[in-house]
Amino acid sequence: MNPNRFRIEPGTDVDLRKVPTRSTEGFDGDKVAGRARTAELVSRLAELQRMLFAGSTERLLVVLQAPDAGGKDGTISSLLTGVNPQGTRVTSFKQPSDEELAHDYLWRAHRQVPAKGEIAVFNRSHYEDVLVVRVHELVPEKVWSRRYDHINAFEKMLADEGTTIVKLFLHLSPEEQAVRFQERIDDPAKHWKFRMGDLDERARWDDYRAAFEDMLSRTSTPWAPWYVIPADRTWFRNLVAAEVVVSTLERLGLRYPDPEPGIEGLKIV
Ligand code: ADP
Repeated sequence: MNPNRFRIEPGTDVDLRKVPTRSTEGFDGDKVAGRARTAELVSRLAELQRMLFAGSTERLLVVLQAPDAGGKDGTISSLLTGVNPQGTRVTSFKQPSDEELAHDYLWRAHRQVPAKGEIAVFNRSHYEDVLVVRVHELVPEKVWSRRYDHINAFEKMLADEGTTIVKLFLHLSPEEQAVRFQERIDDPAKHWKFRMGDLDERARWDDYRAAFEDMLSRTSTPWAPWYVIPADRTWFRNLVAAEVVVSTLERLGLRYPDPEPGIEGLKIV
């Protein structure tokens, strides 16, 4: 599968209502075949991460955004199966603490970007500052509307300094969100995932859609592209996410570092 079909070309005006959430476009196979392909990709990802860690020259940042119940947690567990926890870091961005609020909004994100040899995954991210913050009017429009430019400049700086950035938006339908919320309500093992506040957020679906569309239209750049992943089917979401991340790492041409001179043919006695 060529994951570029899911990539938002810079300057595109995104209308999410026209983008499928349930399709399996680009993959000629069923769920079983899709899962098998994902397993291959995920093990390739684990190998690429070993090279990244061993070489300690490259850095990868994966940003994940989605509506509630969009599958961020599931995507992260699928992607990172088999990956060495050393050298991989997942940061979940929650409501900012007092200390975070006392700084500019990019401060907490910048502190969590990957070091050389690391993969960092952002579960939510600095994009919340043009999403929840916009929808709930936590700051005036004058303030959030200039953040797209800040974010593009911030990510350009990271990219110029050697961080590869890939951004995944999990595109869920409101119908599928309803099904997932209902499961969370009906299954005691999933109660912890449901908060009454989720319903207030759901009632603002159209406001969030507008905020997601502006985010995708204004911040998909050559140095930090967005991919919109159909997310109603879990198996397909995991497959596309793995394709995107693996193809991004493959482009880096990673390899294990050269051995120390004299290692060839060396016998330990
Ligand atoms: P998740 O839904 O990601 O699994 P939580 O249920 O803890 O995790 O939700 C985190 C909450 O933090 C979300 O409601 C999100 O909108 C909120 N949040 C994240 N970043 C910000 C921010 N910058 N300002 C306000 N709220 C934020």
